[in-house]
Amino acid sequence: MPAPIIGIDLGTTNSCAAVVEANGQVKLIPYKGGDFTIPSIFAIDDKGRELIGHEAKRQWQLNPRNTVYAAKRLIGRTFKSDVVDTMKKVVAYEMDEGTKNDVVIKVGKQKLAMAEISSRILNKIRDVAQDYLQQKVDRAVVTVPAYFTDRQRQAVKDAGKLIGLEVVRIINEPTSASLAYGVGKNLNERVIIYDLGGGTFDVSIIEIRDRVFEVKATGGDIFLGGIDFDNAMILHVIEDFKQKHGIDLSTDPVAMQRIKDLAERTKIDLSARIEAPFHIPFVSMTPQGQPLNIEMTFTRKLLEQLTSKLVDRTIEVVHRVLADAGLATKDIEEVMLVGGQTRMPVVQERLTKFFGKPPSKGVHPDEAVAIGAALYAHSLETNTSLKLQLLDVIPMAIGIEKADGKFHVVFQRNAAIPNAKAITATTSFDGQTELAMRIYQGDHDDVTENELLGDFLFSGIKTGPRGAAQVQVTFDVSVEGILTMSAQDPATGRQMKTTIRVTQS
Ligand code: AMP
Repeated sequence: MPAPIIGIDLGTTNSCAAVVEANGQVKLIPYKGGDFTIPSIFAIDDKGRELIGHEAKRQWQLNPRNTVYAAKRLIGRTFKSDVVDTMKKVVAYEMDEGTKNDVVIKVGKQKLAMAEISSRILNKIRDVAQDYLQQKVDRAVVTVPAYFTDRQRQAVKDAGKLIGLEVVRIINEPTSASLAYGVGKNLNERVIIYDLGGGTFDVSIIEIRDRVFEVKATGGDIFLGGIDFDNAMILHVIEDFKQKHGIDLSTDPVAMQRIKDLAERTKIDLSARIEAPFHIPFVSMTPQGQPLNIEMTFTRKLLEQLTSKLVDRTIEVVHRVLADAGLATKDIEEVMLVGGQTRMPVVQERLTKFFGKPPSKGVHPDEAVAIGAALYAHSLETNTSLKLQLLDVIPMAIGIEKADGKFHVVFQRNAAIPNAKAITATTSFDGQTELAMRIYQGDHDDVTENELLGDFLFSGIKTGPRGAAQVQVTFDVSVEGILTMSAQDPATGRQMKTTIRVTQS
C-alpha cells in the first residue's frame, strides 16, 4: 500500500502535519516528545551543519545571523518589494537579490533561495511523518494563506519539487480550517474564518452545504501576524531603554534576539494574566563598563495599546470581506478563530462586539489547518468514500499592464476558481511580430503597486499593419489559484502555452 497523502500546514512560525489513518481517523502527526508543531526555522551552525525546527530555534540567540525564520513572508517575493525592505529592518539574517529578481538568504557559506529554505522545513516535516507512518511519504496537500499570490503558490510547489515531495494540491488555510470544522457534520451554514497566525492574516467567508465548501469572499494581509505584535513590544522596549540609558539596542543582534524571545513569551503570558515582568540581565554596558539590565513590567493594557492599530487593521479586513460577499454580520452563523494570535483576549473581545456573539470554539486554533488539509488529502485518494467539493476564489485581481501603466483587470478579486477568460490582443505598430504582456496581481489601479507575476511573450505574429492581428490570449486559473496563459494567432495557427513565471526585468 502506498503511503497516504499527508496534510501539511506550512506556517510562518510553526508547521505541522496530519494524516487520515487506516482506521479513518484524522490525526496530527506527533513529533518526538509529543509535540505536534515544528518551528519553521532553519539555521546553519558554525560547523556548517543544517539545523531545522527545534534545534534551529534553540541556538537562535547565539547565532542570529545564520538563523532564518519567517521565511514564508519572503517566499515568492521580488527583492525590490516593500515587504523585503520591511523584513530587512527586523531580521538579523542577510538578504540579497537572486537571479530571478527573487530573494536569497546568506546563511553560513551558502546563498539559499526562499524555496530552498521552505524545502528544508517541508523535508523535516516529511521525515517526522515517515517516522510516524513507517512508510515513505512522497505526496502532500500543503496549505497557504488565502492571500498568497500566484507567484507565492508556485514557490511552495517548487519547494516540494526540490525534495521530491509532490504537492498534489495547494489549498487555502481558512478553507482548510473550515473542513476541520465541517466535514462529517452535515451542516448547512455560513461561517467566517478569522485566521491570525504568526505572520499572516486571512479572513474567508465560507458556505458549508454538507460536503460542499464554497468560499464567498476572502481577504487578508500577508504582513500582519503575531510577529508584528512582538515587534510592537520590541520597539517599545528599545525606546524605553534608549530614554533611560541613551543606548540603542537595535544595533546589537544578540540583545535584539533576547528581547525578541522574551517579548513573545511575555505576550503569550499576557493572554492569561494582566501583568508580567520583563527582565533581561546584562543586556548592555555603560561606557564605563557597568552592566545594564532591562527591568520593566508589561501590563495587558499596555500591550493592547501598543497593538491596537494591528487589531483595527484585522477588523477593517473583516468589514471589506463582508462587503465583498454582500453580507451583513447577522448573516454569519459562526465566527471561527484560527491561529495562535487569536488567543489574545482583546482580539476575541473585538470580534464579539463586531458580530454581536462570541466566536465559536468549534475548531482548535493551532490544529484546524493541518487537520483540514489531511481530510482534503484523504478525499483525493482513490480508495476513499470521503468526497469533498471545494469552491475557492482568488484573493486579489489578476490582470495586465496597459500602455499607460494602468491595470487592466482580467479576473476580479474573489472570482471563483477554476476560471478561464480570453481576451483578443492586437499589435500597436506596423510589422509587429511579438506581443509582450506584463501580468500583475493586486487590487491597485496603478500596476506598480501590485505584485508582478511575470511576462508573457508571444512571438510569430503574421506581419501586417498595426491592429490587423487578432491574437486570442487565454488566462486560466487552476483550482490552486495558479495562472497558466496560452495564446493563439488564427492567422498563422501558432499556439503557445505557459505557466506564468517571473522573469528577469
Ligand atoms: P500560528 O502561526 O498559528 O502557530 O501562530 C503563532 C503565533 O501565535 C505566534 O506569533 C505566537 O506568539 C502567537 N501565540 C501563540 N499563543 C498565544 C497566546 N496564548 N496569546 C497570544 N499569542 C499567542
